Amino acid sequence: MNYLIDTHCHIQSIQNSLSELWLKDPTLTIADVIKRANKNRVKTLIAVGCNVADSRLAVNLAKNYPNIFASIGIHPHEADDFLKDVLLKAEFEKFLPDQNIKAIGECGLDYYYNISTKQAQLEVFKYQLVVAKKYNLPVIFHVRDAFDDFWSIIKQSMPLTGVIHSFTDSKKNLFKALDYGFKIGVNGIATFTKNIEQIEMYKSIPLDSLVVETDSPYLTPVPLRGRLNEPSNVLIITEFLATLRNESIEELIYQTTLSAMKLFKL
Ligand SMILES: [Zn+2]
Repeated sequence: MNYLIDTHCHIQSIQNSLSELWLKDPTLTIADVIKRANKNRVKTLIAVGCNVADSRLAVNLAKNYPNIFASIGIHPHEADDFLKDVLLKAEFEKFLPDQNIKAIGECGLDYYYNISTKQAQLEVFKYQLVVAKKYNLPVIFHVRDAFDDFWSIIKQSMPLTGVIHSFTDSKKNLFKALDYGFKIGVNGIATFTKNIEQIEMYKSIPLDSLVVETDSPYLTPVPLRGRLNEPSNVLIITEFLATLRNESIEELIYQTTLSAMKLFKL
């Protein structure tokens, strides 16, 4: 494998103008974005849904592009809205099974913003783990300031496979994630964090547990801060990690792609 996989992006919103960020640049089209990604050796993308409508966009995108796959999920911020409308649950499950859907997520707990109530977040997260198990799909986890509750749910829900996306937490939680066999998703935050502990943590991730992502259009890596992020920038993130971790770029590309292929059964 001499190409990269962006294991976490939200580019499905480009065409549908859901993202204000993308709207600021009217010259962006999905075809341009894919072309630039391919030019930077990023061949495969996982388009990650955050609610039912957004998941539908991801599924439709995956249907139209052979190297784009979808993950369907309800982000913790969306948990309140998801529970308010009983029809949404039925709609969510109607997506499955689908050969283009390779994961459930992003889902999890976010007690930093607490945009949805804790109770709703917990319920919607547990529900998605049940769906993931039912369809034997890996899970894309979003966890922020909520690891105690997260681990207790995981403990009850194993066996599961998955990736903790945008991981920036402690070494303690890193090692716990590794104990469960989860992959660790690293994005542009690594290129601009000033947190020494975080930088040390990035160095401690075993090579065979690391996957790379952009979380585009958010979290643009250095040196492109201030611009929109897009999947092509996975190369910049991977190059940065190669230098930080003192590994060869080709080895990093090979291993992260291999891990992503195994996790998402690509
Ligand atoms: Zn995301």
